[in-house]
Amino acid sequence: MLQIGCHLSSSKGYQAMGKAALSINANTFQFFTRNPRGAKAKEIIPADVEKYHTLADSNGISRLLAHAPYTLNAAAKDPSLREFAKNTMADDLVRMEFTPGNCYNFHPGSHVGQGADMGIQLISDMLNDILTPHQTTTVLLETMAGKGTEVGRNFQELKEIIDRVELQDKIGVCMDTCHIWDGGYDIVNHLDEVITEFDNIIGLHRLKAIHLNDSMNPLGAHKDRHAKIGEGHIGLDALVRVINHPALRNLPFYLETPNELDGYAKEIALLKEHYK
Ligand code: FE
Ligand code: FE
Ligand code: ZN
Repeated sequence: MLQIGCHLSSSKGYQAMGKAALSINANTFQFFTRNPRGAKAKEIIPADVEKYHTLADSNGISRLLAHAPYTLNAAAKDPSLREFAKNTMADDLVRMEFTPGNCYNFHPGSHVGQGADMGIQLISDMLNDILTPHQTTTVLLETMAGKGTEVGRNFQELKEIIDRVELQDKIGVCMDTCHIWDGGYDIVNHLDEVITEFDNIIGLHRLKAIHLNDSMNPLGAHKDRHAKIGEGHIGLDALVRVINHPALRNLPFYLETPNELDGYAKEIALLKEHYK
């Protein structure tokens, strides 16, 4: 069965996200752990989480993906900004244990002119500071489009971060189809080769989630502007090949397309229809 959902607002809590997911025929979802611009997190209400779990268990919702605020920069030049990213992510990992066994995705960071090697070192240092042996959450590095000084612009950079992480069983990758397309990986004409390259460099066992997005820009644009499914330069046919690919088809897919709930419902129905 295709496991698919979309990004949902977390402002009303877990049970509300579960209900929103069911209302659009999703069986998973992604949410921000806190305001995406990095503000203080809302207190987690155990009774709300409890109700969510009851709802999820009886309706087959699983494999949640939390997304860190995208303003956190583990590779910042200013030590106080790095400290803020570290403390926020460490707090998020504590909060993730209310919903054990899921994944937590983050943008590796921007090296802001210090160079990719320095960025890779700072990001892996942060991971080694915050990952703990007893956590049940897998932390995912997101593949980035390579705009500005983003680290994680190709599979090699992610591999170099992963190699320096001590707790190897706590780290994985989330592949964003818009980002890798913008990063120059031709998933329209050479999907098999891209997947083989991922396997050779990082290893498919690290791949835990897919952000399924079309792109407003052509291959290699390094822009990161998501388009609705079938309305961008990747196109419906290529995205249908992604969800059906033997190496990917059992992963959870999360839409981050520019939609409200009704638009997400249509995309989910469309993709389910094309899932063989
Ligand atoms: Fe992201
Ligand atoms: Fe993404
Ligand atoms: Zn993006």
